[in-house]
Formats: sequence, C-alpha cells, structure tokens
Amino acid sequence: MPELPEVEVVRRGLAQRVTDRTITAVRVHHPRAVRRHEAGPADLTARLLGSAITGTGRRGKYLWLTLGDTVESSSALVVHLGMSGQMLLGDVPNDNHLRIAALLDDGTTLSFVDQRTFGGWMIAEMVTVDGTDVPMPVAHIARDPLDPRFDRDSVVTVLRHKHSEIKRQLLNQAVVSGVGNIYADEALWRAKVNGARLASGLPRRKLAELLDAAAAVMTDALDEGGTSFDSLYVNVNGESGYFDRSLDAYGRAGEPCRRCGAVMRREKFMNRSSFYCPRCQPRPRA
Ligand SMILES: [Zn+2]
Repeated sequence: MPELPEVEVVRRGLAQRVTDRTITAVRVHHPRAVRRHEAGPADLTARLLGSAITGTGRRGKYLWLTLGDTVESSSALVVHLGMSGQMLLGDVPNDNHLRIAALLDDGTTLSFVDQRTFGGWMIAEMVTVDGTDVPMPVAHIARDPLDPRFDRDSVVTVLRHKHSEIKRQLLNQAVVSGVGNIYADEALWRAKVNGARLASGLPRRKLAELLDAAAAVMTDALDEGGTSFDSLYVNVNGESGYFDRSLDAYGRAGEPCRRCGAVMRREKFMNRSSFYCPRCQPRPRA
C-alpha cells in the first residue's frame, strides 16, 4: 500500500506535468474505479470535460487535483491510489488494468491503472478547514507531519490524553495523518519507543521526539524517492515500494538491530505486524 512519501512523489510528478492543462476527453474503462463518485461515471466525465487543472494537493495519503472551471477553484478530482493504483502520463498504456483515461490539451494522456481495483477517482467540493482548502472527503483528516502548518505541540497535547497504544494513535488519521504501518514502525524505532506503550504514559518530550522522527523518516524516504523517480511516468507501485532498502525496523524480524545488534522481533498488531528491537524499545510491563 502506498504511504505518504510514495503519494507525495506522485503529486510532485503530476504538479510538474498537469498543472494548467485542460481536460479535453475522458473515458471510464471500468465502473468500479469511479464507484466513490456517487453521481456515476457519466457525471464524472461531464464534470471533468473542459475543466482546467489548477494545481495539486495532498494530505496524508490523500491526493487530489484542483479543478478550476470557473473563476474560483471549487472542486477537486480526488485520487484514491488504493493498494496498487498508478497515475501514468504519456500514451494510453496497453494494459488490462487501465481503469480511466483523460486526454489533456497538450496531447498527453493521464491514465489511471489499478491492478486490484481498490482505488479510483471521484470529484468532490472543496471546503475550508482550519484555514486550508481541502476536498470534502479530506475534511476530517488531520494535518500530516510534512504539512508546513503541522502543529507538533498541539498533537503532543492530544496524544497525552489518549489512553491507548502509541502506535494505534500514530495510525489514527484524525490525530496525525499519513503515518502508515511501515513509517510508524520506523519512527518508533528511531525514537526508541515500543508501540504498545500507552500514548498518555509517554512524556511530552518523548512524544515530540517521536513526531519529529515520523517527519524525518518520511523526509528521508522522499529524498530517496525523488532520485528514483521516472519523469516519463508518474508511478506508484504498492507491491514493491520505492523505499524498502532504507528501512531500519519494518520487515527486519530476525535480523540484528542496526543500533544495538539485538535480534529484531515481529508481533501481530491491528491485523498487521509490528517490527521492533526488544532492547532499544522494551515492551511495557504487563
Ligand atoms: Zn536495538
């Protein structure tokens, strides 16, 4: 599943290539890819036709293109990448998993390819939340650690009042967005915190360190992704991920901790896995 850095790589690629372009044709190849757009495929197509793409946006793992068919931009094309969604620029790909294709006025095609069909496109109205314009489906999503207006100290205060595991709260999109399972484990490892500890039991300075670690690990991943980015295709692959080789915790069960050498462990957590160092990140006492 793509995490924030992967989605941001896609957004940056799109920002360079589609901003100020106008959509001149749209074809929905599979209705499932537009199921979130309740008014249906014909409505989505009609609303995209003739729309100018005025910019790109992202919050957490949510990605959108702002549409300006009138004087003020009031709607957005929200892109759900799901597990395996890709936004491709160039010729129409000869791909069985092509779901939607939009022709732009410079002759390029923006295609949505999705092998597993969990993702899709929808059009949503823009709303202003806490001084920032976001699409309606994103209104309840908290700012992510890379947002210039992310207020770390306020989030620390929220966490101090949460009487549940800190990892569960890192994954809580209403508290802080964009931290998925992989980067939660990486941030916890960097800050030497076991994810099973209660958020409310951690000192403020430790919570601040943890949020800083989350921002740092995603910035590092982004720097790495920026170098491997192919300018022809805006591409995200949820299966392999771009950033695996730089991970210190996730996927490293049985391998030595890169800090202390202890054998890394894996445990079940919220139907997924947690990876941690038992020495650097001791479990809380029962
Ligand atoms: Zn260790």
